[in-house]
Amino acid sequence: MRVSRLMLVTLRDDPAEAEITSHKLLLRAGFMRRLAPGIFAYLPLLWRVLQKVSAIVREEMAAVDALETLLPQLQPADLWRRSGRWDGYTAGEGIMFHLIDRQERSLGLGPTHEEVVTELAADLLRSYRQLPVCLYQIQTKFRDEIRPRFGLMRGREFIMKDAYSFHADEACLRRTYAAMDGAYRRIFERCGLRAVAVEADSGAIGGSASQEFMVTAEAGEDLILTSPDGRYAANQERAVSLPAPAVPLPGGPCRTLATPDQTSIEELCDAHGFDPTQTVKVLLLLARFAAAPARGVLVCLRGDQLLNEVKLANAVTARCPDAGALLEIVPLLADHLDGPVPFGFLGPHLVDLPMRQADPRAAAAPLLRLADPSAAELEAFVCGANRVDEHLVGARWGELCPLPEVVDLRAAQPGERCLHDPSQRLEAARGIEVGHIFQLGRKYSEALEARFTNEAGEDEALWMGCYGIGVSRLAQAAVEQNHDADGIRWPVAIAPYTVIIVIASSQDPVQVALAEELYGRLLGVGIDVLLDDRPERAGVKFKDADLIGIPWRLVVGRGAGERTVELVDRSGGTGKRDLTADAALQELVERVGLRGASP
Ligand code: ATP
Ligand code: MG
Repeated sequence: MRVSRLMLVTLRDDPAEAEITSHKLLLRAGFMRRLAPGIFAYLPLLWRVLQKVSAIVREEMAAVDALETLLPQLQPADLWRRSGRWDGYTAGEGIMFHLIDRQERSLGLGPTHEEVVTELAADLLRSYRQLPVCLYQIQTKFRDEIRPRFGLMRGREFIMKDAYSFHADEACLRRTYAAMDGAYRRIFERCGLRAVAVEADSGAIGGSASQEFMVTAEAGEDLILTSPDGRYAANQERAVSLPAPAVPLPGGPCRTLATPDQTSIEELCDAHGFDPTQTVKVLLLLARFAAAPARGVLVCLRGDQLLNEVKLANAVTARCPDAGALLEIVPLLADHLDGPVPFGFLGPHLVDLPMRQADPRAAAAPLLRLADPSAAELEAFVCGANRVDEHLVGARWGELCPLPEVVDLRAAQPGERCLHDPSQRLEAARGIEVGHIFQLGRKYSEALEARFTNEAGEDEALWMGCYGIGVSRLAQAAVEQNHDADGIRWPVAIAPYTVIIVIASSQDPVQVALAEELYGRLLGVGIDVLLDDRPERAGVKFKDADLIGIPWRLVVGRGAGERTVELVDRSGGTGKRDLTADAALQELVERVGLRGASP
């Protein structure tokens, strides 16, 4: 391709709309333009990158026997109602774009395709003989993200590869999951990315394995915690650790302590010399559901610990199976309740409070009481007395109130000891989630009645897995990991073009002739090559070549008469060298060309 025909518009300055480097560079280098928040036009250079990523994905999906397909993006609401996800995806913080058609039917624009693919499976898969099956597609997804940002990292319209597998039993699901894990590692490596696999939150389904692939980068939105020995890595949403040991509270019977205005753990500890690990803090929250009245939730944590909201949401969902989707969990405030609440002085023994709601059932639902092990394991502790300006010292589970149900709710922190080896301490890193693989189990197949006849002739629900890659996010993540002060440094495998030939002076017919010859010969051996034939100064062309990040640059300049050219390796491996034109071509073919081709 000739750069003069490329519609290349590069920007000298960083656009105001971009915050992180990769976003700035993709805009400046003419790879994309924003149409509206989270909605981008992929310009021809970016489209080539996306095609190259997709080609690698296709090869690796074929290698694990996944079949490419293309499923509808317009999805009937009824289908999502049957899986129980319509309300959660459309009400509250739900991210599904939805509309009503001219027949007054509700439709959603696909944010993901479990429902559609399970419906297909219900229709097509009847016998264990047809299993396992894995379908995938590479397609635009729509998500009305609450905070679209960082360009392609969090778009509202973006490209995803999503795959879904169906199995006759769990063992077979595990095998495909392991094969996908391998395929994902190869995909990211081939794309030139440094990615780590981390344990991920698998939502409220619980128990099922789920793993994310994180491209490590400062700009990543996810916090990941890893052990130095490499044996443990998890998203913070999911991570577990050993909290620091608690300082034991001196024995003695439970007593009341006057604590005027000491409403925070910090104030309480400062005033009386307690250690925060000797206290139990009580959080009073309100969970809102799609199909049930809101319910109060009382959480006990050790005073020095922080709540992990993802773990809490999972725990609440699992304990309210008939309430429909969990829409949100918010702090419970005095206006939600009938009667005074001693906020700042709450203890685990708080009695159920009547909720101020129109629905009479709300009043009847008792508080859902949960305690993190860090609080449950305390023998004696300090906590609120449920009376203003008073705390209890030396309270004990059983005496004060029954121990609530114990469930892991605390946020693991960097520096804490690892469960697998307490001599290892968790380290933090930031990551960009580029892929997610998930053993779904039978949640969707049961809800949508996707059933088959097993080998024993019995009817049962299909086992399912799902596997996503953010193709457009991956392309930007590659830039986040591969750039320098001059611009992008695309890994060769996904670079829009592999080589750029720059004519130093387009007025010089000798230079032009040699450049055209080299251009033709590179094209002839199937190398993706750009010819910068623009009537610009050499410096401008060099700057653009660096900015758009083409891995190899061939400069045809003053040496053209002697058939010498300069070969520049953008990734820095071999730097700049003067070579004869033939030697340069030979080297390019060896390094990036098709095997066996000769220029
Ligand atoms: P996130 O936690 O970042 O919102 P997710 O867990 O909701 O992502 P999945 O449903 O697992 O995303 O989707 C599969 C992949 O699609 C993700 O691993 C990610 O790479 C990509 N992806 C998800 N949301 C977006 C988005 N808004 N823009 C671009 N890529 C996305
Ligand atoms: Mg995910």
